[in-house]
Amino acid sequence: MGNTAASPVSTASPASTAAAAAAPGTVYDVIVVGGGMVGSALACALGEHGLDVALIEAEPVPPLMAGEPAAARVSAISAVSQRILARLGAWPAIEQLPGAGGGAPEPRVCAYTDMEVWDASGPGLIHFDAAGIGEPALGWIIENRVIQSALLARAATIDALDVYPGVAVTGFEEGRNALGVRLADGRRLSARLLVGADGAQSPLRAWAGIDTMGWGYEQQAVVCRVRCEQPHHDTCWQRFLPGGPLAFLPMYDGSCSIVWSCSRAQARQVLALDDAGFAHALGEAFSHRLGPVLWSGPRAAFPLRLQHAQHYVQPRVALVGDAAHVVHPLAGQGVNLGLLDAAALAELLIERHGAGQDIGAIAGLRRYERARKGDNLLMQAAMDGFKRLFGSPLAPVVFARNAGLLATNALGPLKHLFARRALGFGRELPALARPG
Ligand SMILES: Cc1cc2nc3c(=O)[nH]c(=O)nc-3n(C[C@H](O)[C@H](O)[C@H](O)COP(=O)(O)OP(=O)(O)OC[C@H]3O[C@@H](n4cnc5c(N)ncnc54)[C@H](O)[C@@H]3O)c2cc1C
Repeated sequence: MGNTAASPVSTASPASTAAAAAAPGTVYDVIVVGGGMVGSALACALGEHGLDVALIEAEPVPPLMAGEPAAARVSAISAVSQRILARLGAWPAIEQLPGAGGGAPEPRVCAYTDMEVWDASGPGLIHFDAAGIGEPALGWIIENRVIQSALLARAATIDALDVYPGVAVTGFEEGRNALGVRLADGRRLSARLLVGADGAQSPLRAWAGIDTMGWGYEQQAVVCRVRCEQPHHDTCWQRFLPGGPLAFLPMYDGSCSIVWSCSRAQARQVLALDDAGFAHALGEAFSHRLGPVLWSGPRAAFPLRLQHAQHYVQPRVALVGDAAHVVHPLAGQGVNLGLLDAAALAELLIERHGAGQDIGAIAGLRRYERARKGDNLLMQAAMDGFKRLFGSPLAPVVFARNAGLLATNALGPLKHLFARRALGFGRELPALARPG
């Protein structure tokens, strides 16, 4: 760290229990609250460019090694997000999970080349393929904790970045030229800018008094890993049921991770079924597209909501990722938007830091909000629209959406436009996300 009043906080490896005690008077350039995928990416981007950064993550995150069982929480990562993760130096450890004790690494991503989406209430079907748009893949299915673990491992190698794993931020303190945080173990840190990357329930957002707008979908997403009789063919499968979409996402080991959006009552029933009952119900809901479900892992459910912060910034505070916006997961866009937030905020802060300007000043921060809010709102509205369109049982709507799916499937250029947008292309990109 360059700008501490005394000796710096040590850089802890993600495997260690906590960073050493911060010296009194330590003032970071940026404190990132929340070391999920988005916060870790932002901290790496800033630390690499010499800003003094503290990354504080409430949960312990032991480094992930080859051979550990796969988790059900996965993300469909777009080409643009892949580019960001590669630029940050995290992609090699995502693609090949390091082997324990120098052992063999393990491929841990599934590049998907195709996507098939169809309506349970009619003949509507659309099929996307990577070859059609001249790309090697439409995206990658990766466990969330693989991405987080790779970014935290990268963070531990950056001198200007101090990681505080397994310790929550429990309070905030106002100041004139810096803001402070209190940690659960009693330490206090301060910075010229606090970034809330602390998820949908963001304590930092609440403390800063930033309101949100939105609504609950009265739905839960049931997630679980399954094995089917037939191979997944590196394809993302999604069937729109009257109660919500059901996705089968291809995993590196031939299994699928499912995301089944359903009413709360149905989610309770689905969670309570024994394995045989669950396999049967899931197979029926999926019209046995990949044959019978032969095996299923532990199940979990997550509430679904649409939420948007009224502001992303205020003096010395910025929000990124789910702290700023939560979208329906039906098109797998949440973390892809969050990584673009991280890239856009990093670009702005690096520029202002390099020019000797105050990185916490509201005038500069507003540029970040302007760069990202429109894109995020557009994607959120699109996901909400799809959710409503496919949830309607009204006959004219069912007819129109099935006709629309069939027509779009037949219209190459329009279909390719959608596919390129899902890959993250077709929008103005921050430097970290640009090709080359
Ligand atoms: C079922 C489901 C499927 C999804 N599928 C996809 C997909 O395919 N593709 C996609 O792009 N998106 C997907 N999403 C969305 C995606 O999971 C989120 O957008 C993403 O996890 C947000 O990342 P984040 O880092 O902003 O927040 P989070 O992942 O919520 O991370 C926040 C971090 O902050 C930490 N934290 C919280 N409070 C404190 C505190 N007081 N002190 C310190 N640390 C704190 C937490 O421990 C956590 O690690 C899906 C979501 C759901 C529910």
